[in-house]
Amino acid sequence: MPLLVNLRHLETHEIRLKGKLPVKELDIDPHDEVIQVREPLEHDLEVQKLEDGLLVQGHLHLALDCQCVRCLKPFQHHLELDNWACHLPLDGEDCAPVVNDCVDLTPYVREDILLEFPRHPLCKLGCRGLPKSSVGKSRNASGTGKAELGSSAWAELNKLKL
Ligand SMILES: [Zn+2]
Repeated sequence: MPLLVNLRHLETHEIRLKGKLPVKELDIDPHDEVIQVREPLEHDLEVQKLEDGLLVQGHLHLALDCQCVRCLKPFQHHLELDNWACHLPLDGEDCAPVVNDCVDLTPYVREDILLEFPRHPLCKLGCRGLPKSSVGKSRNASGTGKAELGSSAWAELNKLKL
């Protein structure tokens, strides 16, 4: 089900839209390999009719599958918009398009959700990236390797001297 508000229903009472919007309907393309949208958008919205348009208020939640930009660990980022509000004029230049007495809220939700996407997803605050200890160890290991080579070469030379 897309996020449709039927204006006829709204004539008589407020509308509450609660449910999950499938990934396909939300149709978000983050243009970013480190963020994927695989779960539906959960929404709980109230729609009121004002004199000049609609007022939509409520809660949005979307789980994002992210990859940490520093340590590459996959993790889930929960995007919560707790007091989301949107005013949709029904008249004038910027008015919301009405099709068969219905207004589709999806584009407005999509836009605001995209604004909340993390720019540089981190698995945790202050992630320091790939563990330094392992990098250090491998460096040390190669270092000792060279040292050993070196010492054995010296040993060879020493043998020649003798
Ligand atoms: Zn990380």
